Amino acid sequence: MSQNQTLFERAQRVIPGGVNSPVRAFRAVGGTPRFITRGSGAYIFDADANRYIDYIGSWGPMILGHGHPAVLEAVQKAALDGFSFGAPTEREIELAEEILKLVPSMEQVRLVSSGTEATMSAIRLARGATGRSKFIKFEGCYHGHTDSLLVKAGSGLATFGNPTSAGVPAEVAQHTVVLEYNNLAQLEEAFSLYGHELACVIIEPIAGNMNFVRAALPFVKRLRELCTQHGALLVFDEVMTGFRVGLHSAQGHYASLLPGFKPDISTFGKVIGGGMPLAAFGASRDIMKHLAPLGGVYQAGTLSGNPVATACGLATLREIQKPGFFDRLGARTRQLVDGLKAVAAENGVPFSADCQGGMFGFFLLPELPQNYKTVMTTDGARFNAFFHGMLDRGVYLAPALYEAGFVSAEHTEADIAATLEAARQALR
Ligand code: PLP
Repeated sequence: MSQNQTLFERAQRVIPGGVNSPVRAFRAVGGTPRFITRGSGAYIFDADANRYIDYIGSWGPMILGHGHPAVLEAVQKAALDGFSFGAPTEREIELAEEILKLVPSMEQVRLVSSGTEATMSAIRLARGATGRSKFIKFEGCYHGHTDSLLVKAGSGLATFGNPTSAGVPAEVAQHTVVLEYNNLAQLEEAFSLYGHELACVIIEPIAGNMNFVRAALPFVKRLRELCTQHGALLVFDEVMTGFRVGLHSAQGHYASLLPGFKPDISTFGKVIGGGMPLAAFGASRDIMKHLAPLGGVYQAGTLSGNPVATACGLATLREIQKPGFFDRLGARTRQLVDGLKAVAAENGVPFSADCQGGMFGFFLLPELPQNYKTVMTTDGARFNAFFHGMLDRGVYLAPALYEAGFVSAEHTEADIAATLEAARQALR
């Protein structure tokens, strides 16, 4: 038996499903999850000493690859000074200043430990600031596992969402309105029905939890107008896209296409922690004043702004600001995406793919889907065969057809070429 299998059996005895986050169990694609022993640059190694080109990067954070020397040094130095104090430190200010410098829509930011906490707190803040309860989310967008966000579309707009998870009472989901992504008519209708009751609309501006689907420009433009008109706050969940699709995140990308555009509240995670548990949410001073200890919206955390995590995040953010970083990363990712499309075309496989900065997605569909329903028309068996074909050839893609992929600054031209050769063989 392989070491991966031995570890998986042992893990299943003491951890539900053998994993601490469900997608790691390979349930969607079948087979044995790989137990990772270490990472180095663009590669990860498993318990059987197999090497993989890593296109997950811990689901986004590892934009510099594994073991970047400047990050390692910062983390080691911080660890020597102490792991956690539960009292403020200067590094929290430095990280907040660094984030705010790059995200002009926010004047203040609060650090937390996970993306789930960031979005949960953003919703509470929006409700506290507006005095309203209802909010809109979009089908296929994942915002962490807060009760009110684990909700799928109901049967129509007159009904509210249904819980997607056991353990979430219907009463908790009753304030969540779930709409189809990129569906302008539904958006208009929802605002005409509930506009004056909406605390906020939360959206993944480039959705990475239904693979890779961009919010269309007219959709974002109208969404901004409707929120402003009705006094609802626009929440950009940039936990995945933040400092990943560009130095100014997805909101910077949309602002470059829609002059003056900005969301009201933003959430970040993944890259800002560089692989450590760190996330954040922020907004204007006027909105953030509602948070405790200034205002009545309570939010707290024993490990919030942790000194080792902030050191890791700061070192990461400093590296990605170096000249040309995103140009190089974007070009490398584009090379992968264009290469995959060419290989698929050679083999007559229906295929579409897209990318922004260091984030990408591909579909075994002839055209890029615009919403979750279309993403899920993908032939699952075919995707799983491709996934395992790539894994067997040393390429680690996301083990589910609805997940985005990530390229790091350490991926070389040779890594892309090896990936494309693996794809050529796997698609054959
Ligand atoms: N928001 C988005 C867009 C995400 O992709 C995720 C996680 O993948 C989250 C929120 C939740 O973050 P975390 O897993 O750190 O709780």
